[in-house]
Amino acid sequence: MHYGVTHTLDALVAAQKARNFKAHFSIDSPDNRDLRITQLVRYGKRGTHAGKSAWTFPSGKTINSLNSYSTGIEISNPGPLEEKDGKLFTVYGKEWPREDAVEVEPEQRFGRYRFWAKYSPGEIALVTAIALACNRRHPVKDILGHHEISPGRKIDPGPAFPLDWVRSFVNPPKGTTE
Ligand SMILES: [Zn+2]
Repeated sequence: MHYGVTHTLDALVAAQKARNFKAHFSIDSPDNRDLRITQLVRYGKRGTHAGKSAWTFPSGKTINSLNSYSTGIEISNPGPLEEKDGKLFTVYGKEWPREDAVEVEPEQRFGRYRFWAKYSPGEIALVTAIALACNRRHPVKDILGHHEISPGRKIDPGPAFPLDWVRSFVNPPKGTTE
């Protein structure tokens, strides 16, 4: 699971092309009614969204370079927000409405960021639907944030993303069958 540091699907796709990486699915739901998906990599083919990465299963087995093992979903979300003069801004300088931001507790902060752009219910529903569809094709062993497989290098999808909720809804077998 990733955010693209963008707030439109077009920008999310353009960022992947410009920076030469591709997730399988790129999604956006700007108003919770309009659900948008673009697929840049065929399901089952290797994406290039994870970069240098590793994951250790509860059994102790570690896998490296998760591009070879994962389906990537990029979500159109700007991620961390900066507060200046009482207003919130994306890291690329767009003013962000306070009602579309969440404030996180210090222990939940990733780096120095206190405010994060909300994920819309439509986006969370879309991510969950994609994960469930993938699970029917090939059992999903876990649902991971980029920060979990590239710690210290990546902070997406960030504390505003309900990773535990999506994980429990899709209910992967928690590393019992790697
Ligand atoms: Zn990422």
